[in-house]
Amino acid sequence: MALQRLSKAARVILVGAPGVGKGTQSERLMQKFSEIKQLSSGDLLRKNVKEKTRAGLEAESIMKSGKLVSDSLILRLITDELTTRGWIQSGTGKSKYTFSDQPSASFILDGFPRTAVQAVQLDDIVPINLVVNLNTPTDIIIDRICNRWIHEPSGRVYNTTFNAPKADGKDDVTGEALVRRADDDPEVWKARLKSFKETSTPLLEHYDKLGILWTVNGNSSDEITPQIFEEFGKRFGVP
Ligand code: AMP
Repeated sequence: MALQRLSKAARVILVGAPGVGKGTQSERLMQKFSEIKQLSSGDLLRKNVKEKTRAGLEAESIMKSGKLVSDSLILRLITDELTTRGWIQSGTGKSKYTFSDQPSASFILDGFPRTAVQAVQLDDIVPINLVVNLNTPTDIIIDRICNRWIHEPSGRVYNTTFNAPKADGKDDVTGEALVRRADDDPEVWKARLKSFKETSTPLLEHYDKLGILWTVNGNSSDEITPQIFEEFGKRFGVP
């Protein structure tokens, strides 16, 4: 795959139902555009649960039930992480935070914001310049969930039908064992899809009004990736 450089910072949000392949698209975007880094709110929460931080202890049972954690909890975690990674800096005076337009300050947020309330809160912190809406039919998504495996330390996601690891049950990069996520349970998934439907419509409307919403349709990650690469090239690439 030919690497492509960015001409300016891409501050991107991926929106899509759980199981649609947001992690896969992030991974591929980071390979194509090496200046882009990814932050997944689900991974950030799971890390906190694992490390038994205060936020993790608060989030654990809510995540298990398939509901969303509180806006204040996730906003605090995300803001801290954006600062730690150097993508925003605490500002002085009027603006609470400052940010750079250099390509090196590019990021993809996966899983955050999930609600219109979170989106408004994020607008106050840093302006997003593209929202990618990954659109795949629900029955196809359900099919994928049963076949998903992850490499926990890196967050790499595989699927035995369309993105299989080179060796069965092993991570391509490290060769370590792949596992199923603790929250990959059918009942939890039903609740997650329902809650996604309820919350994503106002979220997408919010970004549509700001003129930064772009929808991509496809039945598989392989159908979607080339369309995303082309759009990123047009919007952020060095000509
Ligand atoms: P994910 O891996 O993105 O599907 O997230 C796993 C779980 O973490 C979700 O089911 C929620 O309980 C929680 N979560 C992740 N992101 C958010 C968010 N932006 N707001 C609230 N809860 C979240």
